[in-house]
Amino acid sequence: MSKSTDKPLTNPAHYKFEKVNCYNCGADDTSFLLAAEDDLTGKEGNFQYVSCNKCGLAYHNPRIHIDQIKSFYDSEYIAHRKKTNWGVLTPLYEWAMNKHDHDKEKLVSKYAGLNSKTEVLDVGCAVGTFLLYIHQKHQCQISGVDFKENLDYPGFEKIEFYPGLFYEQEIQKERYDLITMWHFLEHDYDPNKSLQMAGKVLKKEGKLIIEVPRFDSFTYKLFGSKWPGVQAPQHTAMYSKKTFMQMVEKNGFKIVKYMPYGAFPPYFYIFAGTYFKLFGKGINLNRAIFPYFVGQLILTPILLFQKYLNLSMQTIVCEKVDNNQTSQPKQPS
Ligand SMILES: [Zn+2]
Repeated sequence: MSKSTDKPLTNPAHYKFEKVNCYNCGADDTSFLLAAEDDLTGKEGNFQYVSCNKCGLAYHNPRIHIDQIKSFYDSEYIAHRKKTNWGVLTPLYEWAMNKHDHDKEKLVSKYAGLNSKTEVLDVGCAVGTFLLYIHQKHQCQISGVDFKENLDYPGFEKIEFYPGLFYEQEIQKERYDLITMWHFLEHDYDPNKSLQMAGKVLKKEGKLIIEVPRFDSFTYKLFGSKWPGVQAPQHTAMYSKKTFMQMVEKNGFKIVKYMPYGAFPPYFYIFAGTYFKLFGKGINLNRAIFPYFVGQLILTPILLFQKYLNLSMQTIVCEKVDNNQTSQPKQPS
């Protein structure tokens, strides 16, 4: 049974929606949480998010049909942006994008050795800059999956690229030393299948590293339905620390490390949330980029402590459970 919003959700007649049970516990028992718009690119529509009464997972339900979601990832979608000329700010923009890949590499290299023999798969690789970065720095063997095709970017041909849905790919079992999912799981229409697929293609001693926005974070409390982590309708679910850990564990992984931060800059959420609150949906990057960097400069003293502030992100490092199936009792965590 689902209690829905009092406000009608107005959507173009051609949008198709489908009901979905909770990704985490499978229940069909929800309460209305919020109605959101496509704040990032400004497309039409009102999208409902519910909260599971059994486990608390927040998710998009009824969700927009998978056949229609692709149109919400157009060329303006931030992760898929190609090289752009931002005028005098171009070096600053490229520095920020490069820093993001550097921060991912820094985080990953604490838990996984990176060298010329390391086979890395990035699920939801977009234009592949993270893979190219670790290939250049550590000569890793790099593979990527993304449902978006024609991701033309300099160097992209160096990536063994699998177009389409991750769990439909033909990939050799236990091939990878490291699988990364940077802001992939919260977009996934079948996160359980994807996590199980990761378990299948990950080596016994391999690591799976997943970053998603954190629902029970400061910026969600601040922005509510305008929280950039809602990112309607692309985000199928919003994970709290609890539901994120449950999702990973129930799909055959044990958690090696939980971090209340990620490689993604929390400042982006502070900026975008403020922008959506003030100006409504649809962010004009050309106009926003200058205030973006000014704001970042002003907030630098706070952002230095981002790892301790639970601002917006979370990351889990995990291993396959069957890794340690040798009669050792489970360590309490
Ligand atoms: Zn549930």
